[in-house]
Amino acid sequence: MTVDYAFGGAQAESSPVLRVADLWKSFSGNVVLAGIDLEVNAGGVVALIGPSGCGKSTLLRCLNLLERVDDGQIWLRGQDITDPRVNADRVRARFGVVFQQFNLFPHRTVLDNVTLAMRKVQKIPRAEAEQRGLELLDRIGLADRAQEHPDRLSGGQQQRTAIVRAIAGRPEVLLLDEITSALDPELVDEVLTLVRELAETTTIVMATHELAFARDIATEVLFLDGGHVVERGAPDAVLTDPQQARTSEFLRRFRRGAL
Ligand code: ADP
Ligand code: MG
Repeated sequence: MTVDYAFGGAQAESSPVLRVADLWKSFSGNVVLAGIDLEVNAGGVVALIGPSGCGKSTLLRCLNLLERVDDGQIWLRGQDITDPRVNADRVRARFGVVFQQFNLFPHRTVLDNVTLAMRKVQKIPRAEAEQRGLELLDRIGLADRAQEHPDRLSGGQQQRTAIVRAIAGRPEVLLLDEITSALDPELVDEVLTLVRELAETTTIVMATHELAFARDIATEVLFLDGGHVVERGAPDAVLTDPQQARTSEFLRRFRRGAL
């Protein structure tokens, strides 16, 4: 099924939407990212996989400037966003982000949660923001819950709300950080189904432990370990026929449920 969420991003472009070159990041001497390179084309879906602590979240946080990078550059549609002169808030508004924990505002209604950033950051008038918010909630079947508080929704409904909140402002890139890891297993599918629909029109970088899902929707899979991209390529190649021993070992342990 193709759902037209109509967020720019999938239009033909010759240059990548996002480009990362030789990115380094340490925390008090502990090198977490040791020269990461990455390119994401419009409509591309890059999946970051690797053991816990390998730096997936740190990389995502560097991309939208939640972490200051130590070295290297990140370009968003050709603009060097690691240039200290850029307005970080304005750059962040060009990304949509969804975390493992839904991070919805508990004291706000579902509709307010979806519209707040549109209104406060993008200065979209309330009526227009609410119309767009209701349309998005309608597409995920939650329009009738718009005036409730998030704690009345199931975990899957809350995470789907967090996803439509992230795309409501029509971001250029969507960053997803293990967005199903905190969900009860029976709620995972409804969230993945929504991401699968979005992936057809949206440029996405996602950290995930859902390897079958990554294999289905990713355009490229990166296996990170020890601060490096150990292996990268088409999902089928990396996930079913890895060339690096460390990738094979990770996949073997992962499948045994040891990770
Ligand atoms: P992953 O998302 O792949 O599990 P993270 O990016 O969360 O990995 O963490 C990578 C490493 O960086 C870990 O060793 C973690 O403890 C460390 N780290 C992450 N954020 C911070 C921080 N703010 N301060 C210190 N260490 C951090
Ligand atoms: Mg993480």
